[in-house]
Amino acid sequence: MRHLVLLGGGYGNMRILHRLLPNSLPEDVHITLVDRVPYHCLKTEYYALAAGTISDHHIRVPFPEHPRLTYLFGEVVHIDLDKQSVQLKDGSNISYDDLVIGLGCEDKYHGVPGADMFTHSIQSIEKARAAYEALNNLPPGAVVGIVGAGLSGVELASELAESRPDLHIKLFDRGERILPMFPKRLSDYVESWFAEHDIEIVRCSNVTKVEEHTLYNHDQPIHCDVIVWTAGIQPNRVVRELPVEKDKQGRIILTKQHHIPEYENVYVVGDCASLPHSPSAQLAEAQAEQIVHVLQKRWNGEEPPSEFPPIKLKGVLGSLGKKHGFGLVADRPITGRVPRLLKSGVLWMYKYHNGY
Ligand SMILES: Cc1cc2nc3c(=O)[nH]c(=O)nc-3n(C[C@H](O)[C@H](O)[C@H](O)COP(=O)(O)OP(=O)(O)OC[C@H]3O[C@@H](n4cnc5c(N)ncnc54)[C@H](O)[C@@H]3O)c2cc1C
Repeated sequence: MRHLVLLGGGYGNMRILHRLLPNSLPEDVHITLVDRVPYHCLKTEYYALAAGTISDHHIRVPFPEHPRLTYLFGEVVHIDLDKQSVQLKDGSNISYDDLVIGLGCEDKYHGVPGADMFTHSIQSIEKARAAYEALNNLPPGAVVGIVGAGLSGVELASELAESRPDLHIKLFDRGERILPMFPKRLSDYVESWFAEHDIEIVRCSNVTKVEEHTLYNHDQPIHCDVIVWTAGIQPNRVVRELPVEKDKQGRIILTKQHHIPEYENVYVVGDCASLPHSPSAQLAEAQAEQIVHVLQKRWNGEEPPSEFPPIKLKGVLGSLGKKHGFGLVADRPITGRVPRLLKSGVLWMYKYHNGY
């Protein structure tokens, strides 16, 4: 039997499973999926989990079942590319013929002292749960500092403002305007929604240090009862430690067939892969489609395509609480209830297609 090992059951590897199962997996291939969590987690909804507006159960999707698919639930700590072996925290090793690394990303703290110790995170389900507990146990009038006004920071701030209107939310961002990656019209719309919901934007901020309940902006202390970090991401530590070529963000540089140049049997999917777009769930899924194509060709003893057409993304949708949203669809900015409905529809479709 040929052994395909999938590290991480996130958006990338879930798409690989769903394309291979039930009928496209060759008889002589067995899959093992390794994750620390025994279900697929909808990471795009972690802001709502942390804010307390959805339940934990709402964002878990069962992994598919198949006679030639095994699950191992544990923590991956090391990959030995030369020995073709993956080491888990309990000391066990798994050997592979083909490997797809889809371990996602973690927070990047940009060297800010104390940020890793004294801020909460929404980058893993365990950390989003801890953020939920901290935020929802706050007394009325408490101050919440959110660092970083990209998509996750904005979605968390707005969801929390609806969930706990009694809290005082401060959103710290380096820029003059929030959501700098979007057209100004969208930033203006979101900023006016924030003004209506008493979310304070602290512009041109520079968080220089974090201590327990204190965030230093340009070295000035600001009291915050809870601080959440949404100011940057980097690939998973296991990937950062691999001795292979990476881009400036620490993502692994791949061939056009999505494998590591020196290791034709090792593919990288999603947030850990160096790709021509910013990391996203839809990018991970689109890349996964191409990886499945390469795997199937190679398993058949055929040459995979020398390159694929560029991945086209459908757009970006962001939420402002449960009723309003914003987005870029076919490069056109949209605001109000329609993008929010679209976002809910995308989530519903995703869960439906994944057997929820
Ligand atoms: C709040 C928020 C909102 C977002 N909104 C959107 C959105 O609207 N649209 C969009 O396209 N993208 C969005 N994203 C980004 C999107 O979630 C990621 O790009 C996507 O999850 C990446 O998929 P992946 O397959 O690379 O990894 P992930 O989906 O992150 O999966 C990684 C898996 O690896 C497992 N894992 C990690 N480390 C280990 C280990 N050491 N051992 C064992 N298992 C491990 C994890 O448990 C997880 O199951 C959002 C992200 C956040 C945080």
